[in-house]
Amino acid sequence: MDPRHSAQDVLRCDLCETPVPSMYCDICHIKLCIPCVGVHLSDRSKEHKVVSFEERGSTTKCPKHPTKICELHCEQCSIPICALCVSSKEHKEHEVVDILGCLTTKKEAIQRDLQELEKTIFPEYQTAASNMPELKTDARKHSQN
Ligand SMILES: [Zn+2]
Ligand SMILES: [Zn+2]
Ligand SMILES: [Zn+2]
Ligand SMILES: [Zn+2]
Repeated sequence: MDPRHSAQDVLRCDLCETPVPSMYCDICHIKLCIPCVGVHLSDRSKEHKVVSFEERGSTTKCPKHPTKICELHCEQCSIPICALCVSSKEHKEHEVVDILGCLTTKKEAIQRDLQELEKTIFPEYQTAASNMPELKTDARKHSQN
């Protein structure tokens, strides 16, 4: 109901106010435009997890250490934990693994990247290859004439 609200509906980078920022820090919960990502990451006072805007909120933060990302999973407690948790007494002698979902998504992402790469490189490669025989036949025609 606040009229000022709708006027500011467009999302802006939290650092420089560029509209429609494409990145997001999942730890600081701030929106970032591409040029500001580097600026933001250079703040070493805490950890950052910059993701694309669509993927915001997908990072699991440690409930005990809010500035830490849970990159590990405790099998015994079946909870996501962070590196600090691992070194704490609580999970001593517990079996700790890399977050499984994280591993598979990474693998899938690599696969996807490869496919993208093939799609972009291959057509060019194919045109180059298919142009070759044409050149040869042309040359032959010329010599026959
Ligand atoms: Zn910015
Ligand atoms: Zn951050
Ligand atoms: Zn933790
Ligand atoms: Zn545990």
